[in-house]
This record gives sequence, C-alpha cells and structure tokens, in this order.
Amino acid sequence: MSSTISNSIKEKLIESRRIANLEPDLSMKMCKEALVLAKESGITEKIGDCYIGMAFVARTKSDKSNILDYSFQALNEYKKIDSKEGMAKAFNLIGIAYFYSAMYDEAIRYFVDGLDYLEEDKNPNLYGSFLNNIGEVYRESEMYDKALEYYKKAYELSVKSDLKYYQATILGNIGEVYLIQGDYNKSLDYLMKSFEILKEGKDLVSMGEVANKIGKAQLMKGNKDSAVDYFKRSLGILDKIENQFYKIDVLSNLAQTKEDSEESIALLKDAISTALVVGAKKKLSDLYGKVSLQYENIMDYRTALSYHKKFFLINQEIMNTNIRNKLEILNVEIKQLEEHQRLDQIKRTLEKDLENNRKELEEVRKNNIILEKEAFEDELTEIPNRRSVNLELKRLLANYTGKRHTLAVLMIDIDNFKDYNDNWGHSEGDNCLKIIADELQSIAVKREDFAGRYGGEEFVYISKASSYEEALQIGEDIRKRIGNLGLKYVKSDTDGPVTVSVGGVFGRTIDFTGFSQIMEMADKELYKSKSEGRNRSNLILLENR
Ligand code: GH3
Ligand code: MG
Ligand code: MG
Repeated sequence: MSSTISNSIKEKLIESRRIANLEPDLSMKMCKEALVLAKESGITEKIGDCYIGMAFVARTKSDKSNILDYSFQALNEYKKIDSKEGMAKAFNLIGIAYFYSAMYDEAIRYFVDGLDYLEEDKNPNLYGSFLNNIGEVYRESEMYDKALEYYKKAYELSVKSDLKYYQATILGNIGEVYLIQGDYNKSLDYLMKSFEILKEGKDLVSMGEVANKIGKAQLMKGNKDSAVDYFKRSLGILDKIENQFYKIDVLSNLAQTKEDSEESIALLKDAISTALVVGAKKKLSDLYGKVSLQYENIMDYRTALSYHKKFFLINQEIMNTNIRNKLEILNVEIKQLEEHQRLDQIKRTLEKDLENNRKELEEVRKNNIILEKEAFEDELTEIPNRRSVNLELKRLLANYTGKRHTLAVLMIDIDNFKDYNDNWGHSEGDNCLKIIADELQSIAVKREDFAGRYGGEEFVYISKASSYEEALQIGEDIRKRIGNLGLKYVKSDTDGPVTVSVGGVFGRTIDFTGFSQIMEMADKELYKSKSEGRNRSNLILLENR
C-alpha cells in the first residue's frame, strides 16, 4: 500500500516537473496534491520532495519569496532524516532565490554550503549545477575571472557525465563572460560550440539566446552582415516559441546595426513594447536611455528629454522594487526562525540592508541632480547650454502661440575673441566668457527672458519682447552693457573694450515656420553686423503673412 502511494507521489512530481514551464499553475496543483498524499502517508522524504517540486514551479515564475519559503520547508523535512542530497537540493534553490533578489552574498553562502553535502562522484549533475550557479553569481557581481573558474569546473563535470544539453548551457555562459570582457574571438569559439550542440536538441530558448550572443560578438568584431544574420535567426527561433523576454535584447542589438537613426528608433520602440508586456524593468531602463540618445542624434531634443525622464523614473522604480524584494525575503527568513541567535543575526542583516538601501537611494538622487545639470547646463559658464536653448525655443514655438505672442531671438558673438585669447591666454579667455555669460544671465533674469551659451564665444538670447522697437532696444542694451564690463583686448589702456556683435529676428510666434528658420535668420543678421565692422546690432522684422 505504502509503495503504491509512494509511486503515485513520484509520478505526480515527475509530471509536474515536465509541465512546470508550460503550465505552472497546473504543475503547482499537482505538487500540492502530492504533498497531501505525502503528509497522509507520513513519508518525510516525499514531503521534502513535494516542497522541492513546489519551489521549482515557483522558480519558473520567478516568484522569489515562494521559492525561498518552499525550499526552507523542504530543508526542514530533509534535516529530519539527514538526507544530504535533499538538503543540497534545498540549498541550491535557496541560493537561487537570493540570486534572483540580487542578494549575492547570501546566494554564494548557500551554494558553497550546499556543496558540502554533496560528493562530486555521486551526484555529478547536482554538483555541476552548484558550480554553474556560483559562476552565475560571480558574473552578476562582475567578478569575471572567478565566474570563469567555476563555469570551467562545471563544464569539466558536465563532459564527464556526458550531459550534452548542460554542456551547451555552460559553454554559452563562458562565451558570454568573454563577450563582456571584450575577448570576442574566444567568446565566439565557446558560443559556436554551444550553438552546435543546441542545434541537435529541442531547447529553442537557449538556441535563440545563444544565436543572439553570437550576433553580438560578430557585431563587436565588426562583422555586421553576419551579426544581422544571427540576430534575425534568433528572432525567428524566439518568435516560433513566442518567447518575448529574450526578444527584447535581440531587437535592441539589431537596432545597433542600423546607421539610420529613424530605423534604429523603430526597432528600439519595438523592444520597448515587448519589455512593457513582460515587465522587464532593467531592460526598459536601458532602452529608454538608448532611445533618448538617438533622438538627440537627430536633434529632436524635446522627445529626447521625454525619454530621459522615463529613464530616470524607471530607475527609481527598480530601486524601490529591489528594496521590496529584500524585505519580502526577510519576511520569509523570519518565518523560518528557530533560535533567537538567528533572529539577532537577521535583525542585523536587515538593519545593514536598510542602511545600504538608504545610501544607494541617496547616491541615485545625487547622480540624478548631477546628470540633469550636466545635460542642460554649460559646464564653463554655468548658464543654459545649446541643448537648453534649442529646447526653450522649441517649447515657445509649440506653446507660446497666441495671436499677439511675439518673440525676439538674438545671436551674440564676441568680436575678435581670437585676439583676446592670443593676448591674455586661454584661461583668461575662459574667464572673459564667464563674465559675459553672467552679464547676459543677469539681464535675462531681470527681464524674465532666457539666455544660453550656444557654443564657443556665441550666445543666444530669447525674449518675449512685444515690439520690434523693444527687441532692438534689448540688443543695443546687451551690446552696450558688455562693452562697459571693463574687459580689454590688450593690457594697454589705449586699446578699446571687448565688444560683441548682435544679430536677431523679431516676429509673431505663429509666423515663424520653425526653429531652423529662426536660427538661420538671426545668423544672417549677425553676419551683417560683423561685415559692417562689428560692435553693432542688426535685427530683422519677420513680416506678417
Ligand atoms: P569675429 O569677430 O569674426 O567673431 O572673430 P573671432 O576671433 O571672435 O572669431 P573666430 O571664430 O575666428 O574665433 C573664435 C575664437 O573663440 C577662437 C577660439 O579660440 C575662441 N574660443 C571658442 N571657445 C572658447 C572657449 O571655450 N574658451 C576660450 N578661452 N576661447 C574660446
Ligand atoms: Mg563665432
Ligand atoms: Mg567671435
């Protein structure tokens, strides 16, 4: 009787394992049924096996706290009967739960402790799995040499036990580390070997993944055509099994092969939609950053900024998720407590973790502020940079569009600035730029206008001046005030002050056809001021149409 129950439990668990990836809910249901049977029959080992089965299903769903919870329960059962192999299995899954929660110290501890329960010869598969997992943790912690060391040991074992499929996985992992380290030839060696083995089997996910990595290595080596081939091959495989998760990387890599920004953006946006569907936040962050850069390349600063913001927001969200994950894990740990001593230890870990998280958050906030500053401010003069000027002008063209809304855009260029540098030296030249920038900024602040450095010794001033006369007056005012700053081209008093030439355009916002037209018109007027002898301003009136 007991052996039929035992068999029936075993069958349920085997079937549950078989369908775990495809139908996790049904798979979990079967484990739980098996658990009821095991508890009724009181076979401790089988109770442990059922919990391992449940932890395994939780793993396919990346449900970290349940992986941990069920593995701990399994561990308790196996301890009762001193089953070393059982305890090792539980330790392996516990380590994986920590790994998924990015708690690498704890993960390593469980993997290493778990190895103690095993003998290499008796359980080569499980032993190899531990070594491979340790390699994974090292890779994620960016300790690549250590990772390689463990992967290679795991590989030796997998060759001995002739587990083809497992060999392919480890070869793929090794290839990936070499890829990260920039050793593309070695990387390709390993990846191609892995791919050849995978081609014989049915593991299409791994095949798609490895094809993508081969494409990446080819791309890095400069073999673009071959890279595109492998990326497309990977997409084909992944589409066949409707795997969305790995497709994200492939699309993003394929985007990298396009020289045309628009094509690249289209692929990245495909990747973003896919990442949104599967909720892959880290990947989303990476993609938002890439799209933002692409829009910058085509000088669409407005859209670039909107993706930049998405990038920051998702990163904040990732931080919060990490903290939540850790707290969830700690809850499970506390549930598992048996001794007070362990409680103290966990409390200390919790406190340390919270302190670390607080520091991390602070760091992220600080970096955000620095990045925002770098992105929009000119480093030397600390006034808005070219990107900000473009954004401001585009913002006004888009939003300041009433019938009576008028704009003056002035370009201001220092006269003979090369001479100033030649006479005083470059560092004094920098100083001169700062003084002039400060003056422009103070005029802009008082008038509630906008001033920025457009590049070199050229500035842009944007005003909502309401008449042509007022705009002309602003230009003259700027020119005179800079002339009166007391900056001289040469040390002798007889030589004149540093001056600027101004060229600008005035008109109703709705009469302008766009950003480029404004800049071209202002530039033409500036050229006029220069060719008429410098130290003067010219302003063109855009006629109503
Ligand atoms: P023009 O009146 O025709 O504008 O003559 P210019 O000498 O001002 O114009 P040109 O374009 O020939 O030279 C611009 C100079 O500005 C050359 C470059 O050394 C200097 N310059 C540009 N950016 C900086 C900077 O960041 N710091 C310093 N010190 N000099 C700069
Ligand atoms: Mg110039
Ligand atoms: Mg100049």
